[in-house]
Amino acid sequence: MRNITIVGAGQAGLQLGLGLRQKGYTVRVVSNRTAEDFAAGKVMSSQFMFNDALQAERDLGINYWEKECPYTDGLGVSIAAPDGSKALQWVYLLDKPGQSVDQRVKYPGWMKKFQEIGGELVIRDANVADLENYARQSDLLIVAGGKGDIVKLFERDAERSPFDKPQRALALTYVTGLTPYKPTHVAFNIAPTVGEYFVFPALTTTGPCEIMVFEGIPGGPMDCWNDVKTPDQHLERSIEILNKFYPWEAERARNVKLTDPNGILSGRFAPTVRKAVAKLPSGALVLGIADAVVLNDPITGQGSNNAAKAARSYLKRILDHGNKPFDGAWMQQTFDEYWNYAQFVTGWTNAMLQPPPPHVINILGAAQSKPKIGKAFVNGFDDPRTFFPWLADPAEAEKFIQAA
Ligand SMILES: Cc1cc2nc3c(=O)[nH]c(=O)nc-3n(C[C@H](O)[C@H](O)[C@H](O)COP(=O)(O)OP(=O)(O)OC[C@H]3O[C@@H](n4cnc5c(N)ncnc54)[C@H](O)[C@@H]3O)c2cc1C
Repeated sequence: MRNITIVGAGQAGLQLGLGLRQKGYTVRVVSNRTAEDFAAGKVMSSQFMFNDALQAERDLGINYWEKECPYTDGLGVSIAAPDGSKALQWVYLLDKPGQSVDQRVKYPGWMKKFQEIGGELVIRDANVADLENYARQSDLLIVAGGKGDIVKLFERDAERSPFDKPQRALALTYVTGLTPYKPTHVAFNIAPTVGEYFVFPALTTTGPCEIMVFEGIPGGPMDCWNDVKTPDQHLERSIEILNKFYPWEAERARNVKLTDPNGILSGRFAPTVRKAVAKLPSGALVLGIADAVVLNDPITGQGSNNAAKAARSYLKRILDHGNKPFDGAWMQQTFDEYWNYAQFVTGWTNAMLQPPPPHVINILGAAQSKPKIGKAFVNGFDDPRTFFPWLADPAEAEKFIQAA
């Protein structure tokens, strides 16, 4: 049977590893963290996933937490006015609900399952010399290393990467005690020129919770995490931001507590697309997947969705290829097929990092009274291809609004 090594035990690496193992492939996953490291470590993401990505997990039967994890039924947008009131607000239901399972729960669970079904899990911070070994020993070597240093092996694709600096100061705060919204929804709040705040239900290591995600414009008042030293200060700073810029959200958060001292994160990174095939010094080729080669800002909550869809797409390509060699042309086609989808996610996400142009403001405004527009907007998160052309082109936007 074919022998495949995947470096990186995240959404893409583990999902693909499990899928290949289920089909009888000899699969090795290399992880620089043990299951215990993940479970006892800091949160890494808010990992909200929409239906199509969740379906990719269901199709493999690896949706182990679906029953425990709260469903989120809709998505709402609020825009703050300068006086702190809401300039705009609406909520629409998703056609099918979304979910977020803390990666500290999911990754250890998947690692255990992967080993149970005969996968080889190697704990090692793989370097280039390791990759050379894996390439020699495997029919195919895939790097699913997320934001790890190893992904610098893949050349940055300048044409597809309009930014060379972080576009948001990011922070996460996992809490309990937030007054729930009915219907449950991702509350996407925008404070123009300051940043965004979104919040939604999730499942964490201690049970159901809500995840607060802060996206501050660099240098602005929400770029304010550098002096935070303790988890309590992190929670305090989160509440200060809500009081200042999203008072209606502060109202819901009067009694919140951190889920655990590790339920916090702050940091930043530059959105980057890389060339998906890299050559090792020996000449052996390596294929990148998901964040390793298409890293978007979390503003649109797409990274885990992308990783799940990439893993589904690569799995099919590998299975369809049978016993033929995994050469450079096959690798490039495998990525190109995924990029046919992911380019729309990247285009939309990068656009969301810019001040919204008038036609986008018009769309968000029209959604308040026109459910057809609101529903199209919220369900676009499940398949961002559907935003085009109307979200990108002023004339198409006008046509879309008129038709609704
Ligand atoms: C603040 C924040 C909020 C987010 N919110 C959302 C959201 O709501 N919805 C959403 O869809 N996405 C979200 N994302 C993005 C999402 O978490 C990622 O896109 C997703 O986890 C990518 O999956 P992956 O498999 O490519 O990488 P990862 O899940 O990052 O996994 C990569 C793994 O590789 C390991 N690794 C790295 N280098 C090596 C090495 N040399 N050797 C061995 N192992 C290595 C890493 O330790 C890691 O475990 C968010 C991200 C952030 C930062």
